[in-house]
Amino acid sequence: MPESASSTRPRVLVLGGGFAGVGATQNLKDSDVDVVLVDKHNYHTFQPLLYQLATGLLETTGVGHSLRDLVKKQDNARVHQATVTAIDLDAREAQFADMEPLGYDYLVLGLGAEVNFFGVAGAPEHAFPLYTLPDAVHLKDHVLARWEEADRQPDLVDDGSLTIVVVGGGPTGVESAGALAELYRGVFTKDYPDLPQDKARIVLVEAGPALFPMFKEELREYTEKALKKRTVEVMTGEVVESISPTRVKLKSGTVIDAHTLVWGAGLQGNALVQSLGLQLERGNRIGVGVDLRVAGHPEVFAVGDIAAITDEKTSQVLPQLGSVALQSGEHAGKTLARIVSGKEPEPFKYRDKGTMATIGRGAAVVQMLGGRTMKGKKAQAAWGTVHLALLPTNEDRTKAVVDWAGAAFTHQRAGRITIGAE
Ligand SMILES: Cc1cc2nc3c(=O)[nH]c(=O)nc-3n(C[C@H](O)[C@H](O)[C@H](O)COP(=O)(O)OP(=O)(O)OC[C@H]3O[C@@H](n4cnc5c(N)ncnc54)[C@H](O)[C@@H]3O)c2cc1C
Repeated sequence: MPESASSTRPRVLVLGGGFAGVGATQNLKDSDVDVVLVDKHNYHTFQPLLYQLATGLLETTGVGHSLRDLVKKQDNARVHQATVTAIDLDAREAQFADMEPLGYDYLVLGLGAEVNFFGVAGAPEHAFPLYTLPDAVHLKDHVLARWEEADRQPDLVDDGSLTIVVVGGGPTGVESAGALAELYRGVFTKDYPDLPQDKARIVLVEAGPALFPMFKEELREYTEKALKKRTVEVMTGEVVESISPTRVKLKSGTVIDAHTLVWGAGLQGNALVQSLGLQLERGNRIGVGVDLRVAGHPEVFAVGDIAAITDEKTSQVLPQLGSVALQSGEHAGKTLARIVSGKEPEPFKYRDKGTMATIGRGAAVVQMLGGRTMKGKKAQAAWGTVHLALLPTNEDRTKAVVDWAGAAFTHQRAGRITIGAE
């Protein structure tokens, strides 16, 4: 057992079972170490597809995968479901809310990021973030409940009960707005034929002057057109000031009657990083060296969203993306395997798969590192290929392809049911 005092092998403690933590763990499979992987959930969350769970396209098992299943063939690894509350880097020990402390010889920090509400009044209480599996289920249930309620009491529609405001013109906001619009116009039109679709608005609010600031102008224009075609109302240069359960107030003074606000506007490093005594980079991320180790702690690796990793090709900090998290986690695992077998660590080299987002059926955008762009069906195929590769198992890939193909032909959303307490 990895926790056994009798073990003489080095213990690698991996905190976080996201792309980064799982990537590190799996790359230690053949190494002479004991690996302990800890996450507060007993599943790995595939965040890029959360919006598909929230809109009924995928079911929970298409987005969450058992962590124990992901390491079941790895004899040197154990999984614990526990919440990390503190890490003492000097004592080399992690503490948990619900488990005895664990010491380590090497630590891989892969705890990801957290939602940042930027101090907007009412956001923590009333906004629906889309960062965890419960977030996605919560949003889906809330939206379905609004439609069922309006079906019973149609006058609620005039109060904005079916209107959704999505905040943030980056990939999370755009993908969510596009998917919600397709759910409304493609599915709910038929599910609720007596409710007026024109009063069920999807409004995308972005503080900056344009959506997708990271993309070239042509892709931004394409995105805006594709969203408008799907009846999403795009408001740029507008900042959300406050949120109540039924109203969204913008700094310009505009008030939108909306009973749902989806928050896709910002992230910050996991709150735990502030207690580590490390100098943090922008967005509370831990700065790392070329081999992903933390300065002053050669036994500690920070990987994925929690880390600020500088790309050796561009000298820019890499974005918080699934492929960055997976590749950095895998690199930490391989580097640790090298270290324990007496070899020198190697620098991390990121293989850029392009920046991409999908807007709806047949509509997506891709921009490669060299500036090459793609849009439409071709971009959607590229998006599908990259995201299928990120899914943890072949079974998950097959499941996603079947669900996507089904939805493409039939508009069907099998997941649009609510299972609440009776
Ligand atoms: C809605 C959304 C859409 C996205 N879309 C895309 C996309 O299309 N393409 C793309 O490449 N990237 C996308 N991303 C980004 C991508 O999902 C992240 O970059 C990636 O998940 C980061 O991986 P990670 O392993 O660093 O962190 P995470 O995946 O966040 O994993 C961190 C893990 O740590 C655990 N954890 C956190 N705190 C504690 C604690 N205190 N105790 C124990 N466990 C803890 C969490 O439960 C989680 O399992 C998206 C992100 C979001 C939120």
